[in-house]
Amino acid sequence: DLVPIRRALLSVSDKTGLVDFARALAARGVDLVSTGGTSRALKAAGLAVTDVSDVTGFPEIMDGRVKTLHPGVHGGLLADRDTPAHMAALASHDIAPIDLLVVNLYPFEATVASQADDATVIENIDIGGPAMIRAAAKNHSGVAVVVEPGDYSAILDELAAHDGATTLATRRRLAGKAYARTAAYDAAIGGWFAERGEEAAPEYRAFGGRLAQALRYGENPHQEAAFYRTGEARPGVATARQVQGKELSYNNINDTDAAFECVAEFDPADAPAVVIVKHANPCGAARGASLSEAYRKALACDPVSAFGGIVALNRPFDGETAEEIAKLFTEVVIAPEADEAALAVMAGKKNLRLLLTGGLPDPAAAGTMVRTVAGGLLVQDRDAKRLEAGDLKVVTKRAPSEREMADLRFAFTIAKHVKSNAIVYARDGATVGIGAGQMSRVDSSRIAAQKAEDAARAAGLPEPLTRGSAVASDAFFPFADGLLAAAKAGATAVIQPGGSVRDDEVIAAADEAGLAMVFTGMRHFRH
Ligand code: 5GP
Repeated sequence: DLVPIRRALLSVSDKTGLVDFARALAARGVDLVSTGGTSRALKAAGLAVTDVSDVTGFPEIMDGRVKTLHPGVHGGLLADRDTPAHMAALASHDIAPIDLLVVNLYPFEATVASQADDATVIENIDIGGPAMIRAAAKNHSGVAVVVEPGDYSAILDELAAHDGATTLATRRRLAGKAYARTAAYDAAIGGWFAERGEEAAPEYRAFGGRLAQALRYGENPHQEAAFYRTGEARPGVATARQVQGKELSYNNINDTDAAFECVAEFDPADAPAVVIVKHANPCGAARGASLSEAYRKALACDPVSAFGGIVALNRPFDGETAEEIAKLFTEVVIAPEADEAALAVMAGKKNLRLLLTGGLPDPAAAGTMVRTVAGGLLVQDRDAKRLEAGDLKVVTKRAPSEREMADLRFAFTIAKHVKSNAIVYARDGATVGIGAGQMSRVDSSRIAAQKAEDAARAAGLPEPLTRGSAVASDAFFPFADGLLAAAKAGATAVIQPGGSVRDDEVIAAADEAGLAMVFTGMRHFRH
């Protein structure tokens, strides 16, 4: 399985280490073939090189779009040394076999990162390079393929150890790497189109990312972890600027994303909004006349859980809100911007991580969600669906009042961001009880009501804020019991998708309890 290297084709955009490598090959008697710029670099270093246009009998045309796409090159890369007919075909067409291919591609990713215009980006889609890489890798029984300068020294070591030949083991390793590289390259190109709205169906999407940060550890200290950026332009924790504070942890990033995605549901032009998140679930959310009022209302929902939480704001962070947040231990604050007063207050909280994003993500934007299962990836569109007034259908005798309707919509929007089963009570633009992640909807209902009672007791209120509240369920009530638990807690209006086989029973129970109920026809599971 040793193949001596007699002829090498070199065509590289990144010319790092090229001359030294080529000189070492030439010293071993290897014939060098090369494309325009690479050939010039080698000749300038005094090396003897055959131009690829002399091999093809064809000039490089269209500014390099077509240089190596020719049977004279691809025949030399693809001929199987063990198939006599292949070798006969080489001989009859006067094609020399290529034993080593050295290619690195037009710098597509770097060109995108440099904010180049679209025409420049497109010109940096390499066509002939990937074709040669894939051909050589397919034919690794006879050809070694090198796709990055980092492998030059390993090749030279191998040639030194095996009298100018490569081993099958190395050629196989290089072939696997070569296909991983062309796959990542095409994924980057597909991703660039997706960012421009040309999103492919999930079964055609490729996944990749650029390492943003090695993390200290994952969800637990014994798990290694890292953070990758996908290049998606949505403002959020991945694109934020960290102004101060300790390094972000894995859990910080996960929770901060949950908080910011949730607060972005609320248009800053309508009202300031604040969401406080613990363990990826909102533990308080509110709109207010000012940002600081919204924070106080969000905090009042569950002040015990908010300790060590993540706070997300939909408007520029101001000094008054900063004074309020500074009263409680908070892990992260994320906001579109911050004014001088807020920055000054936060500066006194050295460990608090402050992230500024420059904007809010569009909650209706398309996107891809990926999670792993043992041996696989689960892929879905992000839940970009939002309530429109026309979606709502009143199913009870009593229709919700205007105030109830506003709280219903608020509660349902928060429920979308609460792990299932989700039950959310809201009153006057603030959550007053959240039940998250329970295995039964009745339990979520009970927990939400219990939390409201706890909060009322802590605040010295005569009765829980669930009295006169609106309640949302992320999925239909399968039985009347969950709904009746909400009525018992004092809810007067209910919002839920509907669609249960027992809808009639549930509607009758709502009527009997004097509740107003609307169906959304839209479920928001979040697991
Ligand atoms: P050079 O600097 O030698 O002129 O060009 C090297 C680059 O051209 C390499 O990145 C290689 O992948 C790329 N390349 C080689 N052949 C072709 C081809 O036929 N078409 C295109 N578009 N690129 C090619």
